[in-house]
Amino acid sequence: MYPDTVTTPSSGANAAAENLSEEAVDALSRAQAGAATTIPSPAHSHRHESLLSTRAANIKQSAVRDVFEISMQPGLVSLAGGNPYLQSLPLERLGATAAKIIAEHGLEALQYGGGQGTLELRQQICEVMAAEGILDADPENVVITAGSQSAQDVAAKVFCDPGDVILIEDPTYVGALNTFEAYEVDMQPVAGDEHGLIPSALRATIATLRAAGKSIKLLYTIPNFNNPSGVMLAPDRRQEIVDICREANILILEDNPYGLLKFDGVLPAPLRAANPEDVLYLGSFSKIFAPGLRIGWALVPAQLKQRYYLASEAVTLCPPTFNQLLVSEYLRNYDWQGQIATYRSLYQERCAALLVALEEFMPQGVSWTRPAGGFFIWLTLPEGIDTYPLLYKGIDAGVVFVPGAAFSVVPGPSNKLRLAFSAVPPTALREGVKRLAPVLAEAVNS
Ligand code: PMP
Repeated sequence: MYPDTVTTPSSGANAAAENLSEEAVDALSRAQAGAATTIPSPAHSHRHESLLSTRAANIKQSAVRDVFEISMQPGLVSLAGGNPYLQSLPLERLGATAAKIIAEHGLEALQYGGGQGTLELRQQICEVMAAEGILDADPENVVITAGSQSAQDVAAKVFCDPGDVILIEDPTYVGALNTFEAYEVDMQPVAGDEHGLIPSALRATIATLRAAGKSIKLLYTIPNFNNPSGVMLAPDRRQEIVDICREANILILEDNPYGLLKFDGVLPAPLRAANPEDVLYLGSFSKIFAPGLRIGWALVPAQLKQRYYLASEAVTLCPPTFNQLLVSEYLRNYDWQGQIATYRSLYQERCAALLVALEEFMPQGVSWTRPAGGFFIWLTLPEGIDTYPLLYKGIDAGVVFVPGAAFSVVPGPSNKLRLAFSAVPPTALREGVKRLAPVLAEAVNS
């Protein structure tokens, strides 16, 4: 059913999309910024330089665009981009549905809509959240956003002044780091292990920061199949984490785009499930349907809904009307749960193939996570090895990955790296690992 070959993009935007997502490019940029070995960026100065905001001036130009260009070379296996594999979507039927929406509801579909999103889609989103384990969601408290990325942005905007602390499960999603940085917040790491965020580490970090007089606003966490680590937060840690934050008056920002992609078995209840006042919950259609539609949502504690909604409206006026109608039609008339099951088994197969290849080829001294869902596997090399320079050696060997520094708020080199299996067929995954192994072996043995 799925092509089982190494993709060999030749040129142009399509090739770029196939090889490295924007998220991967951002991640590579951050990795470069955090790495011991950095490539100087050319200085551009012009008369508007002095007009830039502090936050814009802080955004670094990176050499990663060069890597991006290089990675376009034919035959390269990209394990960098965390793109969903959309080939199994019923594209022809979706095309007919899109045409029908324009023909029958064009004036509504192409018009401005309400800032919170359509009521029908908010009601349907409550059904999706029921599948995720939240049974009491009220459509009144749902705000539809331009992907969960924009929901993160609105959260930082609503809660954080410059210098406020956001606690970050370390490692974490690079796009969230970029978003939070723009609000000049103080991002502080909280340690995790193979079972996710560690409650005692959270408690200790809060105590230390409070003793230093810091104002802590949010905890940002991805309990299911963390990007980049693939780790799932253990069920028995979940309520304890909520209790710690409640006691400390810290709002939890729970990001759950991968929950429904648990390969098998029952998904543990989200932090939000039993704690409606303590958690601002973020969801998305990007991984369970299609990211290009840019439809995500926030389920906001009732008492904060109005503030959140007004801030969201100030950014986008309204979420894209046509795309909301398309998602509504899809949820009403298609087997969306069946599509998720298809994605799930596809990713499970790919994850298994990547794990087998790692067992076969990786040198001693390299270890990795064994995810139960999602898109990513996280590799750890011996202490003292910086994976950023290995990126270039990997490209020479025909494989690209994302160095670990991208995903950490702790500056400096990292001995970790992320492999994404979602968009790569099994034989190409194997080939990618086969190419990567000697690069890592040389680093481990030198
Ligand atoms: N959160 C996490 C953990 C992600 O991995 C991503 C995308 N890769 C997002 C949020 C952004 O998703 P969206 O497309 O809904 O903006």
